[in-house]
Amino acid sequence: EALGKLIDLKGSIRVFCRVRPSISTSNIKIKSPVTVEQENIAVRAVGIKKDSSVDRVFDQESTQDDVFHEVKPILRSALDGHNVCILAFGQTGTGKTYTMEGTSDNLGAVPRAIQELFSHAAQDTSSTYSFSISMLEVYMGSLRDLLAPRQQPLFRSIEGNTTCNLSILATTSGSVQVEGLTDVAVPDLKKANQWYCRGRRSRSTSGTNVNNVSSRSHWWVGLDRVSACAVCSGNLNSTQFYLVLALSVCSLTRITIRRCGGVTEQVSKLWLVDLGGSERLLKTGASGLTMDEGKAINLSLSALGDVIAALRRKRSHVPYRNSKLTQILSDSLGDGSKVVMVVHISPSKDDVGETICSLGFAKRAR
Ligand code: ADP
Ligand code: MG
Repeated sequence: EALGKLIDLKGSIRVFCRVRPSISTSNIKIKSPVTVEQENIAVRAVGIKKDSSVDRVFDQESTQDDVFHEVKPILRSALDGHNVCILAFGQTGTGKTYTMEGTSDNLGAVPRAIQELFSHAAQDTSSTYSFSISMLEVYMGSLRDLLAPRQQPLFRSIEGNTTCNLSILATTSGSVQVEGLTDVAVPDLKKANQWYCRGRRSRSTSGTNVNNVSSRSHWWVGLDRVSACAVCSGNLNSTQFYLVLALSVCSLTRITIRRCGGVTEQVSKLWLVDLGGSERLLKTGASGLTMDEGKAINLSLSALGDVIAALRRKRSHVPYRNSKLTQILSDSLGDGSKVVMVVHISPSKDDVGETICSLGFAKRAR
């Protein structure tokens, strides 16, 4: 019973922190200012030391398996009818996409979750499950459907055409719907993976789309944080494009689970969210359009922080309406739902400022 109380006290929002391994380009090993002791992370920088404790820390040696081990129990909740959100937060280049998608050798949380859902469904003889998948991006407050039958032109919305801007509807039952969002029924794992790969290919951050925004690439030159460029290997130009986009776009994968046990049907949503980079605007010196992009992403991240903080503190008013992101997720962050936030940080000395900001975000969410 005591344990039950403890779990209850911890609430349904769990915050993890993952430290990216150092990707050193020289032989000289520089000591990382980030240290991990049990669930405590300390960041040391010029005369200051910041501590933050989270529900669990994944240090530089952590594997995709370690992370998935913590994700698995909440997939059970999704199968049991709860809405679930798994969110990757952090500065660009700290491993959000690595955690969510992973690489072909090191699959991340999304492909593993898809696999787990199907394998659980096959084993559970008392209920029948059906799954469907939707994928979308939030870019400067516009929503883009990644599984739409005909691919929408990239970033049409900023050129004034709003065809890709879907709208959000709140139903009388309190659930949220994105109007017109493609939702594909996936009968088996193979089909689910095919659709997931297709959605990934249509993302604005995918390599095939980078040329579409070449006109906006220039501002990234002169960025003072070259370390972030270095970790996204490849040709310098495409790296720049990649980062511009990674900064601005939040991509969401939604798996809708329908469970039939006898005569009752239960519907729940599993959201897997790769948030936009959290780097501060001032540091990048962005201007004009990119400034707006940065503002938009900062706005949705701070709105998310506000919502989680309000839920944590059991406030009667939860400010869901302040951003598209929090509106979309509003029926999956509050009562009865489960949230896992993985805050990603860099091990690098150059990123200490960002790291401290990210840990501040983590602390507020706890
Ligand atoms: P973000 O999505 O936060 O911008 P990425 O996931 O693209 O960052 O990570 C940047 C680079 O670092 C990628 O090349 C990625 O494969 C690598 N990386 C990130 N985290 C890890 C990790 N835990 N282990 C190994 N490589 C990682
Ligand atoms: Mg990314």
